[in-house]
Amino acid sequence: MKRLYFKYGVMGSSKSASALMTAFNYRQKGYNVLLAKPSIDTREGRDVISSRIGLSAECKVFSKSKNLINFVKENGGADVVIVDEAQFCTAKQIDELKELTLNDVVVICYGLKTNFKSELFEGSKRLLELAESVQEIKSVCRCGSKATMNARVVNGFVITEGKEIQIGGDEKYEAMCFACYKKYQKEQLPQTKNS
Ligand SMILES: [Zn+2]
Repeated sequence: MKRLYFKYGVMGSSKSASALMTAFNYRQKGYNVLLAKPSIDTREGRDVISSRIGLSAECKVFSKSKNLINFVKENGGADVVIVDEAQFCTAKQIDELKELTLNDVVVICYGLKTNFKSELFEGSKRLLELAESVQEIKSVCRCGSKATMNARVVNGFVITEGKEIQIGGDEKYEAMCFACYKKYQKEQLPQTKNS
């Protein structure tokens, strides 16, 4: 039996870059790798996983209603399945990924642990329950402390209300420590060089 891995981190913690490097590494050694990500709407097909440091690769996209055992079969099978943005999988899909490990498939999921309200995403919750290996990809807050919160920022303020997925909104996300997450709910965020 192979293992189910969950590698989680906040926004901007280079999860996608790690996913792409892991895929590259397995492929170089001759493994058949399926790179995939869930769709936040109903779209399926091909897309690209791209990281902020410039790496990108084509991936396959599945919708929330897709059975992932069938999805892997339809894509010609795989020795290793790598899922980016795994927080958006349903609990049932994580159960299916776990099933795949019984058929000798390594499954490595990358994603956020919690949303902007600091509550677990459905997929992340199930991954924490089922993964044999859970690993944190660490990241830093603008103040230098460890970032653990995924703050939603609207007009320079951290907000903690609204839907989990906001499509087409003008908000930004920033990984922060808990102190900054609380502070900038009351106080406007100073601009940084990159914002
Ligand atoms: Zn901070």
